[in-house]
Amino acid sequence: MKDMLYVLGCRGSVPRSGAGFEKYGGATSCYALRLGGRLLLVDAGSGMLRLDELLRPGEKEADLFLTHAHADHILGLPMCRAAFDPTFCFHVYLKRRAGLDGKAQLNRFLQPPVWPVDVDGLAARFVFSELPEDALLPGEAPLRARSMEAVHPGGCSVLRFDCAGKSVVFASDCSVLPGNEEALCAFARDADLLLIDGQYSPSEASAKHGFGHNSWSHAAAFGKACGAKKTLLIHHDPYHTDEELDKAAEEVRAISETAGLAYEGETTEL
Ligand SMILES: [Zn+2]
Ligand SMILES: [Zn+2]
Repeated sequence: MKDMLYVLGCRGSVPRSGAGFEKYGGATSCYALRLGGRLLLVDAGSGMLRLDELLRPGEKEADLFLTHAHADHILGLPMCRAAFDPTFCFHVYLKRRAGLDGKAQLNRFLQPPVWPVDVDGLAARFVFSELPEDALLPGEAPLRARSMEAVHPGGCSVLRFDCAGKSVVFASDCSVLPGNEEALCAFARDADLLLIDGQYSPSEASAKHGFGHNSWSHAAAFGKACGAKKTLLIHHDPYHTDEELDKAAEEVRAISETAGLAYEGETTEL
């Protein structure tokens, strides 16, 4: 079985649709990884409604790693078809935040009057675990899952998965700043694939300091500095059109030949 990344949604903050948002897509954060025979999902934004496209017949479980519980990273969960399937099981990993465990964080959003049912009201089975800092998940090939804390309002987890010589790092909603750049770089060192937040243009980034995102140029330079073999910029700003993102992609390529902008529906073999 091939190790693959699927970009199910890479828009940041809120979904977009319509003219100007077709190429890079408007669905929010959701990525699927086939790694070492497992199906891993990272985040559950509106892109999660595309999960059906890659589930195999009879496939009834997935590990769901949530970077954090901001709405754009969880809003697809209660409406994806698997959530309506009583034979499907999600193993959810989410770091405890604001004094709340993973289930309680999801239920801040999934409760009346914001949503009609809570997690227990969904048909699928949900098994919650604290996100590990460093753990070996057993399987066909043991998978090492690691996390480190990002700089982002309310917190967010940067994730790294290593399995049978392949490595993927997710750094969504993660400001790369002088104070954390070295540690982040060590964490992402030599990854086969790095997905990193590049939401803003360089001028927007200086005006939005403290929002917890990067400029696309800084994100591309970071990917190069940490030796990632391929860098995909994610969490595209909801106001950036395809035309603007195409221009951004040219700027990014001038910084690093191995960096580009992720688009919804993209698949990459690892
Ligand atoms: Zn976000
Ligand atoms: Zn966020």
